Amino acid sequence: MAIEAEKLSAAEALRKTRTFGKVRCHNPSCMERMEPSPGVAHIKCGTCGMEYRIYWVRPDLPRIRGPVWEVNRKIAAEALSSKLAASKIKSQIKEGVKDGVR
Ligand SMILES: [Zn+2]
Repeated sequence: MAIEAEKLSAAEALRKTRTFGKVRCHNPSCMERMEPSPGVAHIKCGTCGMEYRIYWVRPDLPRIRGPVWEVNRKIAAEALSSKLAASKIKSQIKEGVKDGVR
């Protein structure tokens, strides 16, 4: 699993050097390509909603400086709470089955 992830990131790094003007979403479960408008300081991924800070190596060469933590933490918290809610529902269903057997 870890080896596969490493292979992927190496391939991504190679591909990145060839794709001028584009950055890739840092969300491991997304990896969407984004094309920031020239000079923008932030970009929001249209697929997962994560926001990143952009810096410009050259006027035509953007790089992701880092995530916008306030936005991404919120998204992560929401994902977690919906997961928790789902597991709660699951355990409720299980209990319901038990009751039915009794
Ligand atoms: Zn994304």
